[in-house]
Amino acid sequence: MTDYAKKTRAVHGGTRRSQYGEVSEALYLTQGFVYDSPEAAEARFDQCGPDEFIYARYGNPTVRMFEERIAALEGAEDAFATASGMAAVNAALTSMLRAGDHVVSSRALFGSCLYVLEDVLMRFGVDVTFVDGTDLDQWRAALRDDTKAVFFESVANPTLEVIDIAAVSELAHAVGAKVIVDNVFATPVFSDAIAQGADVVVYSATKHIDGQGRVLGGVILGTREFVRKTAEPYIKHTGGALAPFNAWLLLKGLETMDLRVRAQVATTLELATALAGRDDLERVIYPGLPDHPQHDLVQRQNGSAGTVLSIDCGSKARAFAMLNAINLWTISNNLGDAKSIVTHPATTTHSRLSPEQREELGITDGLLRLSVGLEDAADLLADLEAGLAAASGQG
Ligand SMILES: *Cc1c(COP(=O)(O)O)cnc(C)c1O
Repeated sequence: MTDYAKKTRAVHGGTRRSQYGEVSEALYLTQGFVYDSPEAAEARFDQCGPDEFIYARYGNPTVRMFEERIAALEGAEDAFATASGMAAVNAALTSMLRAGDHVVSSRALFGSCLYVLEDVLMRFGVDVTFVDGTDLDQWRAALRDDTKAVFFESVANPTLEVIDIAAVSELAHAVGAKVIVDNVFATPVFSDAIAQGADVVVYSATKHIDGQGRVLGGVILGTREFVRKTAEPYIKHTGGALAPFNAWLLLKGLETMDLRVRAQVATTLELATALAGRDDLERVIYPGLPDHPQHDLVQRQNGSAGTVLSIDCGSKARAFAMLNAINLWTISNNLGDAKSIVTHPATTTHSRLSPEQREELGITDGLLRLSVGLEDAADLLADLEAGLAAASGQG
């Protein structure tokens, strides 16, 4: 598969056919697997081969197809699928850390990622230092000889700061730390994170991989050694396994992901460009715009700025007036979906953070996160313009 382009791997990677030779991937909706004899059961528990399965919490043929397809796409040796993106983030970190270890993380994180680092890991005696991920001097200052891992969202949710994977990896590797990248906003279509130095890449498959708002899922990608010896034992014994039905939808999602995401990126750039000139917006944040501080970095790192932009309407009243006036955009909190979705992070996805934390990250009360879907760009823009017109009377 590695000889083929990403688009080809996304359609064919990991395919396994049963004796019936089905064209589309089979859905093995089974929790368990039958052994011909007690000796066969004993042998399988002792040494489970790549085409053998024991229990769906450990692995399942449909889940395995998804793991092999996303690993082929990402250029990773192996992958382990999880029940959600958060199960992947939690397992990637928890499976490799123990009390007394040190972690350095960027501060600009999705609320649940922050919970894992700040509440879960710290409660179990892992020391975590938070830095401004765009400032290499802060990474340099925070890394120590006992730093075991660094963690960051390569494009931060929802402020869209871009972190230099190659530069942070070089600093982390110099002290022997593993680099774990939450790469959701970059999307697997535009990721080259492993070649750029990441040791472990994590996705919420709920986002662009499904891309149609149906199921939760997640995946951890890395070396075979890490995935099978460190991540797998942790996940299979703690219960965060991906359901076969969800894996089947995600497999089919991967087939169309390239087309969907490229179309969404083109519309995102069109909307960001159209909104950038408006004087009733405090800010339009999109790394694809030339005035974004990491514009060159995102072009170099991903070749695309993704399917999300953020706008600052100036106040919560104006943001809410806009949300109440739009029709086509859906008020929700998913992203990467075929349907365009608008989120007010300060009162939803990032409401866990204190007002001070939000201010430090630039998550203002007027900020709206726009996840751009597959609708017509002119329709989406007209709806936003109508919303902004309705908001103009607000303080
Ligand atoms: C959504 C998201 C997650 C969590 O994924 P779930 O599938 O909702 O558990 C983690 N990181 C980022 C950057 C996300 O956007």
